[in-house]
Amino acid sequence: MKLRLIFYFTNEVKNSISALCAGMIYRGIYDRIDVRFVESEDELVGAIGRGVVNLVAFSITTVNFYERYRTFLRLKKLTKGYGDIYFIAGGPHADGDPDSLLLAGFDFVFSGYCEDGFSSFLKDFLFQNRVASGQKIVCTTSQLWRERSFAKLFNNYFPPLEIQRGCRYRCTYCQSCVRMKRQIYKSRDAIDEYIRDFLSLGFSRFSFVSPDAFDLRFVSENRSPDNLIALFEYLTSKKIRLIEYGQFPSEIRPNRDVDEFFKALSRYTKNRKIVIGAQSFEDHRLKKIKRGHTASDIEQTMESAARYGFYSIVDIILGFPDETEEERIYTLNRFRELNKRFPSRLHVHYFLPLAGTEMYASNPSRLDKNTLDLLNKLERDGRAKGWWKEGERMVRRIIRMREKFSNN
Ligand code: SF4
Repeated sequence: MKLRLIFYFTNEVKNSISALCAGMIYRGIYDRIDVRFVESEDELVGAIGRGVVNLVAFSITTVNFYERYRTFLRLKKLTKGYGDIYFIAGGPHADGDPDSLLLAGFDFVFSGYCEDGFSSFLKDFLFQNRVASGQKIVCTTSQLWRERSFAKLFNNYFPPLEIQRGCRYRCTYCQSCVRMKRQIYKSRDAIDEYIRDFLSLGFSRFSFVSPDAFDLRFVSENRSPDNLIALFEYLTSKKIRLIEYGQFPSEIRPNRDVDEFFKALSRYTKNRKIVIGAQSFEDHRLKKIKRGHTASDIEQTMESAARYGFYSIVDIILGFPDETEEERIYTLNRFRELNKRFPSRLHVHYFLPLAGTEMYASNPSRLDKNTLDLLNKLERDGRAKGWWKEGERMVRRIIRMREKFSNN
């Protein structure tokens, strides 16, 4: 059977698609399938072939669900009458609300960490085992994830090293802990494989995916700056000089013990901007969204960052469902005070109800005029940047899709 697998390879999902393709190499099926990467809807239409079985794969986030669904409907219409075409959905939205994707009409929906399970599914197709459509396929991380890097060059893209996976915190709005509520780490062999590929491809900028950047394990089983130091020493011994850490996608959680970690970062990394996931400066809000830290921990983290020469980009979320104007102004003013003491900028997000999170069924509150005026002033002064304007548009689409396809 001739199998063509078409990935919609957009920016926000390219790490997961790269991992799926690496899994296909490890399972020995990548070269047996005609794999295509497309970056626009028109390219996608053009890639669908006659005389082959087409599998069109989308990695769907709750934010892009609306747009991917429109693309999917267009393709369905254009390919009506083609016998051999199947539409596959995976990604964070499939983890949180797989039924909504089946209801939307996708033939197969993958949830969980699929880089290994997806290859087994493809093998079934290749060897013509019966594969009934309309299935929800739940995958979990296999031991192979620890042992191999799951990072290869595809479509001119080589992903950062995903050194840590899962999160033991339970922030009520966050999708990262939906898949796995504990952390696991890459083995030394997997890191070595990544380094070999990285060097042989001639790359110089070494970056990471890590949900909780300072909670790494490398030489010690406990949270300790020794893990960072040993890892960075190891990379340096392999002649890797341009290490970036503590910025997207390896942000820093506020904590009291961060001083020694920043000291390590300042010694080994090239980036002088780091990202701190603060989310709010109101303690009652931090408690309610289960952050597991306080506003004073954020202050301490910004202070340590500044002491070691780092500029902090401080992430916050506005628009929580029961949020008041008073709370918003308090958070923004608290940041303004800290901004006078520590080099920093605010990065403002708008609350989005993401599938699978405790807050999926919630709706955001609208930002009031005084808050918007203050945000615009901070933006004009170069002290804030962010997604709050875009967020209001995105949330309308999320709610539309949720009302159409979800049981929430
Ligand atoms: S926001 Fe960060 S700390 Fe909280 S659950 Fe998500 S990844 Fe973990």
